Amino acid sequence: SNIDKIRNFSIIAHIDHGKSTLADRILELTGMVGDREKKDQYLDKMDLERERGITIKAQTVRIPYTDSDGQKYILNLIDTPGHVDFSYEVSRSLSSCEGALLVVDATQGVEAQTLANVYLALDNDLEVIPVLNKIDLPSADPERISREIEDVIGLDCTNPIAVSAKTGLNVQDVLDAVIHLLPAPKGDPDAPLKALIFDSWYDSYQGVVVLFRLLDGTIKKRDQIKIFSTGKNFEVTRLGAFMPEAVDIKAMGPGEVGFLCASMKELGDAPVGDTITHAERPVSEPYPGFKPVKPMVFSGLYPIEPSEYETLKAALEKLQLNDAAFSYEPETSQALGFGFRCGFLGLLHIEIIQERLEREFEAKLITTAPSVIYEVKTIAGDILSIDNPSKLPDPSKIDSIREPYAHLEVHVPNEFVGAVLALCEEKRGIQKNMAYITENRVVITYEMPFAEVMYDFFDKLKSSTKGYASLDYEIIDYREADLVRLDILINGDPVDTFSCIVHRENSARTGRSLALKLKRSIPRQMFEVVIQAAIGNKIIAKERNAPFRKDVTAKCYGGDISRKRKLLEKQKEGKKRMRRMGNVEIPQEAFLSVLKAD
Ligand code: GDP
Ligand code: MG
Repeated sequence: SNIDKIRNFSIIAHIDHGKSTLADRILELTGMVGDREKKDQYLDKMDLERERGITIKAQTVRIPYTDSDGQKYILNLIDTPGHVDFSYEVSRSLSSCEGALLVVDATQGVEAQTLANVYLALDNDLEVIPVLNKIDLPSADPERISREIEDVIGLDCTNPIAVSAKTGLNVQDVLDAVIHLLPAPKGDPDAPLKALIFDSWYDSYQGVVVLFRLLDGTIKKRDQIKIFSTGKNFEVTRLGAFMPEAVDIKAMGPGEVGFLCASMKELGDAPVGDTITHAERPVSEPYPGFKPVKPMVFSGLYPIEPSEYETLKAALEKLQLNDAAFSYEPETSQALGFGFRCGFLGLLHIEIIQERLEREFEAKLITTAPSVIYEVKTIAGDILSIDNPSKLPDPSKIDSIREPYAHLEVHVPNEFVGAVLALCEEKRGIQKNMAYITENRVVITYEMPFAEVMYDFFDKLKSSTKGYASLDYEIIDYREADLVRLDILINGDPVDTFSCIVHRENSARTGRSLALKLKRSIPRQMFEVVIQAAIGNKIIAKERNAPFRKDVTAKCYGGDISRKRKLLEKQKEGKKRMRRMGNVEIPQEAFLSVLKAD
């Protein structure tokens, strides 16, 4: 197709400002949805399931569109992951576009994620078109919000597009703007093939499905392609686009967006951000900025019932097929028995995986305190990579420990600058820069141990800025630090899953707070429970829970047997979520409480 008539764009927005609703309206207006039932009649059930499987994840849609002058266009609406914690993936999706529609709720205005997304778009040189949404609501104030967009973001908003994605009012103007304001892609059809992978997922029928944006060259079915970073070759078995169902296309040229299947067995065969080229005539330079996403934060996942180990394993295997940033391997803990050491991008990623395991796989889990990876140099001269604090060698065997550092950018209204600086200092941050991007918007740059960022920095940042700060970070290097292992003993026995690695300066404070949190979350038992925090042989904090007889039926005077039985059953149910350490029962909440900020 004619490259001048292609428009590639994304919709970006703060959550709930109307991104999905606007996308739906655009698809309706262009006739892309509505007659799905008719189409379904042509496919038998098996085909249908196959197509659904492959289509279900793709919100990226190819839209053929004829404007009022009869000009025929191809619009590619490219989906971006919803959360900026996955900013590398968001950034890669955006770099497949020439432009972005910035949806701003005209009753709310510019918010943290609005900005974070705009910066990613501008970093990728996109043309950004502001769209004011929800103007059907009485509280909408398009004039004020337009000024805000001009002041805070610096985008021209003199003739803003103001729509109601809900009613469809003025959504046609959005399409006109996409055609007239966004540039067409550029590229050379005769150059060696260069295509950017901006999304991929595993489909049980087709193997890995790859979404790509073609930059140069031409691709056809049966082509032998090479994945740049791995050097692996594959044959294209299927080539097409989502409209929104999967539709086969014989060949595609520069500027086009599509999917391909190539008998790839795992996500690692087509990593997001990588470059596809031809095996025979490869491009010499890949699309710049590729970095494999790899887990940065590690945590133990243990079944509450030891008998559910195999079920959990099967669930982890399934999840990993579709999440290249998630990893797992078996581990054993003295306290928790058989489980898995799992790797994640960050705390939010842990939460997402944990929730999916509980909801989709009905797994009952204990998640242990997360840890970053430490580089340990031993006296003997070995370099160890430690992702589990309880595996840290004895201090007498350690020469030095290095920890990962992150480069951090915080965007915040100026009234919160003081609070952000105080927080960053508390977290061992090193200030690098502070700049006003507008009269009342500030970008603060720090370098900080990633362990501090990962732990509760984000929650604290949000709460100290009324949710207005947005955070972006990137791991930059490893640096030596004075780190020690903090152990927790319960009635004298160390509980390995509570061990953590902390900076010596903060160790006393962390020890006290951990011991106190555990005291609060471990219920009193029939004997005294002593909780101690220790560094090596030195006890640095101690808490105790006095003995207590828990009689849940005490309140049931009279002979209401069934009520009594119900209570006993409930108590039994409660027990299931406990793990016995020696003779002390520790509820699941205790394991989680150590993850939470004070
Ligand atoms: P997203 O998180 O940006 O994808 O936001 P959604 O598209 O899911 O919309 C969030 C909420 O706002 C939903 O309840 C929508 O029905 C509502 N909404 C979206 N656009 C409009 C609009 O133009 N007017 C009104 N009144 N509500 C809207
Ligand atoms: Mg949405």
